[in-house]
Amino acid sequence: AKSQGGQRYAFFDESLKQQLLNRVQVEADLRTAIKENQFILYYQPQVDLAKGRVTGLEALIRWQHPEKGLIPPNAFIPIAEQTGLITTLDTWSLREACRQLKEWQAAGLADVTVSVNLSAQQFQDSELLPLVATVLSETGLRPEHLDLEITESCAMSSPACAISIMQALTELGVSISIDDFGTGYSSLAYLKQFPIETLKIDRSFVMNIESDDKVASLCDSIAHLAHRLGLRVVAEGVETEEQLKFLVSSACDSVQGYFFSKPLPVASVLQFAHSFAWQ
Ligand code: C2E
Ligand code: CA
Ligand code: CA
Ligand code: CA
Repeated sequence: AKSQGGQRYAFFDESLKQQLLNRVQVEADLRTAIKENQFILYYQPQVDLAKGRVTGLEALIRWQHPEKGLIPPNAFIPIAEQTGLITTLDTWSLREACRQLKEWQAAGLADVTVSVNLSAQQFQDSELLPLVATVLSETGLRPEHLDLEITESCAMSSPACAISIMQALTELGVSISIDDFGTGYSSLAYLKQFPIETLKIDRSFVMNIESDDKVASLCDSIAHLAHRLGLRVVAEGVETEEQLKFLVSSACDSVQGYFFSKPLPVASVLQFAHSFAWQ
């Protein structure tokens, strides 16, 4: 078998070697990027359907590479997770998002919350609580204006542990959203115990609302379930008017997606939020 497959193994080894080299290269680049402050945040508006205005902004990290240009998070977050650099990035995102919202508030942006994504590593880090407390006091942002997004799979990987972390965060006054909801395996028993405010329906469902009736009724069920648990529902990845109409009929509270706006660079956010009106 070895002699027959030698060619293939060699090829496989070659591509593994490439992957490893790429990983080593990206890791080295990431360390430089951290030292040289090459990251920026974009902000994607969340539109409250009842209020018809922007009530949330999700902070989404990008890497402004000196040669390669703007690199999306999917190209470096997995490597940052594998190398442990993710907690440095998450800490930066948290601090920067809070600082930025405080600046926008001073410029007249009222009643808007900023949502920051937390990796599983950052969520479970014993330094998270003191970090959030420090960032809030350093920036002067009120805790009710900060929302932390953790994925469903992160919350469910160790639910008992997640509950106590969430409780401590909630005591600080920040709110918690369960991100990418529907892609993991939630236990209702735990969902009821999580001190969370929001469920975010994953884009993989929203994008199939028009093409698949089962997916549509699933979205509808998630929205009803969330409301019965006293939670807010945000649908992510809303791209079309048909999706929006369906989500309105399902009593979804807020939507986020290209239909209203792509993630925006800092310079475009105030103008968008102030001039936005729906219905
Ligand atoms: P996510 O938290 O699920 O964020 C939503 C992603 O969907 C964003 O991709 C956003 O640009 C994209 N999106 C929003 N609306 C639409 C739409 O209508 N259509 C389509 N096709 N896409 C839409 P982005 O910015 O590339 O971020 C990807 C992921 O990277 C995020 O997924 C999040 O998991 C992660 N991420 C971003 N910033 C951070 C961060 O500061 N820390 C951590 N740990 N993860 C981050
Ligand atoms: Ca998110
Ligand atoms: Ca999401
Ligand atoms: Ca998602």
